[in-house]
Amino acid sequence: MEIVPVPVLNDNYVWLIHDSDSGETAAVDPSVGPPVIEAAEARGWQISQVFNTHWHPDHTGGNQAIHEATGAPVTGPTEVRKVYEPDRIVGEGDHVRLGGLEANIWDIPAHTAGHIAIYFPTAKAIFVGDTMFAMGCGRLFEGTAAQMHANLQRLAALPEDTRVYCGHEYTLANARFAVTVEPDNADLAARLQRVEDLRERGEVTLPTTIGEERRTNPFMRAHSVDELARLRQTKDSFG
Ligand SMILES: [Zn+2]
Repeated sequence: MEIVPVPVLNDNYVWLIHDSDSGETAAVDPSVGPPVIEAAEARGWQISQVFNTHWHPDHTGGNQAIHEATGAPVTGPTEVRKVYEPDRIVGEGDHVRLGGLEANIWDIPAHTAGHIAIYFPTAKAIFVGDTMFAMGCGRLFEGTAAQMHANLQRLAALPEDTRVYCGHEYTLANARFAVTVEPDNADLAARLQRVEDLRERGEVTLPTTIGEERRTNPFMRAHSVDELARLRQTKDSFG
């Protein structure tokens, strides 16, 4: 299983998942169509499926164009119907397949009410959309701090070498906020330095891992719902 980012719009990542055994390729959260199709073609890949983690247009805007160009079916949570009618609706406990790879669907509401994660346990990879970011978490547009806390604790319980694929390049801004929350966290200080170096070179900082997040993500490390709610509020008004 090969996974590559396609950077689009300001800071979105569309993830291409390629299974070389079957030749299948999935596009996760295509903001737009043509650049994602071109990125797949440049690798000799043909998009055969589209997965959406939530309904926001910067995660679904390319559904139609990709479906029309490739015939790839679109799979997503019910809420995607607000903007596009998926071929298959999935939620907690459902499975999706990409060639020989199977993924479990999790309901992780909070950023949106119907947000899902797509977890490939054998590949140790999870696609979390806008629920968790490197050293951060998504804004609570349609859910509560309690839901986000539960989501992050569920993610934290995954094996620590699980790679986490997020929907945006927010890592540097998140790191700069995180060091104000945990000024004595040496892992975090070292990570901020690494992320600054990567971004200076224009490089992608993702995926992250569950282990790294356990050590450096103040939202995942919050001990209570109240603590997470306070952090989220502070971050919302952080420069
Ligand atoms: Zn979103």
